[in-house]
Amino acid sequence: MLNIVMFGAPGSGKGTQSAKLIDEYGLYHISTGDVLRREIAKGTELGKLAASYIDKGNLIPDDVIIDVLDNELKQLDESKNGVIFDGFPRTLKQAEALEDLLKKHDTELHAVIGLDVPEEELTKRILERGKISGRSDDNAESVKNRLQVYHDQTFPLREFYTQKGKFMPVNGHRIVDEIFDDIANGIEQRTGVARRKKK
Ligand code: AMP
Repeated sequence: MLNIVMFGAPGSGKGTQSAKLIDEYGLYHISTGDVLRREIAKGTELGKLAASYIDKGNLIPDDVIIDVLDNELKQLDESKNGVIFDGFPRTLKQAEALEDLLKKHDTELHAVIGLDVPEEELTKRILERGKISGRSDDNAESVKNRLQVYHDQTFPLREFYTQKGKFMPVNGHRIVDEIFDDIANGIEQRTGVARRKKK
């Protein structure tokens, strides 16, 4: 199996690069943000709770989001070659929970890909995306808070994963395919797993 965390600030390109990795390696995609947005659209209790946090750009409480992830992992399609975690973990508690959950599934995390993008660029990208995404949190006020929350609560995970020898920083301020080439090369070096589709 190949289990990868896509790590980075809002707007750093996690979703875009996840889509390419899924296609290249045949992975199962778990985006906690997408799961929550689906719950909001369905009007469930979880959706109602999530909306109150998402709209302001705050994180959903750890115990709630860890349950969401546990549930997603139970639905894992066994025919896939591994999992991409997109937007999870975002706190130290979530990172620890992820280790335990993967252990329960007899597997582990292989790499954490950190997309580095300058802050002005992040803001620009999210506000651009907001024009078409219809996302309640892609607006100037939420963006400011989301970047602050990332800085305070999520950024420290870099150190956590660096210490474990799993963190792979990538310059995310380039064209999509160049970033992807770096990621694929890094994965091969680290795990020995080569691209399925040769260029
Ligand atoms: P995303 O689509 O990953 O940018 O997530 C959108 C929003 O969903 C975030 O700003 C949070 O409010 C919430 N969310 C998604 N994933 C998590 C998580 N792992 N922990 C807490 N909140 C999350």
